Amino acid sequence: MADYNVIVIGAGPAGYVAAIRCAQLGMKTACVDKWLNPSGKPSLGGTCLNVGCIPSKALLDSSHHYYFLQKQAAEHGIKFGGLSIDIAAMLARKNRIVKTLTKGIGSLFKQNKVASLEGAARLTGNQAVEITAHNGNKQTLTADKIIIATGSIPTPIPVATIDNKLIVDSTGALAFDSVPKRLGVIGAGAIGLELGSVWSRLGSQVTILEALPDFLATADRKIATAAQRELKKQGLDIHLGASVTSATVTNNEVTVSYQEPKKGEQQRVVDKLIVAVGRKPNTAGLEAAEIGIQINDRGFIQVDEHRQTSVPGIYAIGDVIGGPMLAHKGSEEGVMVAERLAGQKSEMSYETVPWVIYTHPEIAWVGRTEEQLQAAGIEYKVGQFPFVASGRARAHGDTSGMVRLIADAKTDSLLGVHIFGHSASELIAEAVVAMEFQGSAEDLARTIHAHPTLSEAMHEAALGVDGRMIHA
Ligand code: FAD
Ligand code: AMP
Repeated sequence: MADYNVIVIGAGPAGYVAAIRCAQLGMKTACVDKWLNPSGKPSLGGTCLNVGCIPSKALLDSSHHYYFLQKQAAEHGIKFGGLSIDIAAMLARKNRIVKTLTKGIGSLFKQNKVASLEGAARLTGNQAVEITAHNGNKQTLTADKIIIATGSIPTPIPVATIDNKLIVDSTGALAFDSVPKRLGVIGAGAIGLELGSVWSRLGSQVTILEALPDFLATADRKIATAAQRELKKQGLDIHLGASVTSATVTNNEVTVSYQEPKKGEQQRVVDKLIVAVGRKPNTAGLEAAEIGIQINDRGFIQVDEHRQTSVPGIYAIGDVIGGPMLAHKGSEEGVMVAERLAGQKSEMSYETVPWVIYTHPEIAWVGRTEEQLQAAGIEYKVGQFPFVASGRARAHGDTSGMVRLIADAKTDSLLGVHIFGHSASELIAEAVVAMEFQGSAEDLARTIHAHPTLSEAMHEAALGVDGRMIHA
């Protein structure tokens, strides 16, 4: 008999959720993770809790409060003097949040009777995992099924080598001990925009260099244009079509060279440079290929529709298999795999995975964009409601952005919802539920929304699909 029914490798949002769900369903489960925090202590939760979703949101909130007090409080009649930011205190708060939540995963493991194993896992067969503990001790454990959830790491680029002093990746950018006067960011994806926003709000002059010609190329064009305009107003100097060719450190400064379409070779000198050009699958030391697991040419583990790898009985979920590299996508894959191992027929609907970029205001969407629908030859109708016409947005003092709701021209079923605005990350949930239930614009239009709320903008956009908005 095997030591466990299931061994999960990796305790990020994909792995820890999979492990808990397996245990809930009666499987004897272990989860092995190798993460060590900066003080050398094991810490559960993977990238998301330690150096990703959670610490970035903690800093986004802190920096937003500071920005609000500096730029917007006066409008509310709030007067004060001597405003300053204590970066050490801000980072300590972030670290406390991370500590509480990562410890929380340990408690959840105990509560659900998941065995939490510390160390690096290596696959030694289709039912065997060798674990090297942090003190070097090795043990081999067997399991009926194995779930790989080893996540991802920042993609390095040869033109800007991380030195963890002046040139950092996203992890380094969550821990600057002072506000860099001039900050460069390579990559205008979610991570680049969020970290650029944090330090810009605290006073950095931020230059963002993005190789692609379009801003947020996968987002709805009108939303992307509105967001780009707003972020520029906030002080982010975003260069599109700007491909970085080198980054050289001299005299405590970084000289970044980049090619711009019309201007040719350009240079910018910064005090810190963040490389945020995406993430790559983390399979180092796992020896997955050695036991016959197929890996694609971009390094992602290949899986079938139910996340089984090419080796029967071994599954892979989360960032390590690619697709949307988002915590909630990995978690839901974990639930699906666990439930299927327990004999259930769970499926996951990738069409309704929400995307969020936590700038201010936030950008969120679910489903398809107009551009994708046009390319697919699908006829659609759009309802668009601007937050400037929302009473609640005015009361907040946050009127930028809009909701754009796209419905099938013939069936009225919801095909996509795109939001740029205050609390878009929360508002998008309504669209996800509606789409999950195969709802129509009419369903949302007939749903009563509390007044005054930002969610009324969703209601109005749904009415707008048939040209019957009330407030715009
Ligand atoms: P990970 O979280 O990377 O976890 C993998 C775990 O496996 C790690 O603990 C690792 O140590 C462990 N591991 C790897 N190899 C082994 C091995 N051989 N043996 C044992 N253990 C191993 N996503 C969102 O949805 N929302 C956000 O707001 C968001 N913000 C982000 C902000 C930043 C700055 C970053 C960097 C990422 C952000 N993400 C966000 C992405 C999100 O963090 C990832 O999509 C998510 O963490 C992936 O989860 P995962 O479980 O697949 O992998
Ligand atoms: P994401 O994958 O969403 O985190 O976004 C990373 C962004 O970095 C993408 O939009 C890439 O186009 C961009 N990028 C990648 N390499 C470079 C480079 N050398 N210079 C500028 N931008 C880059």
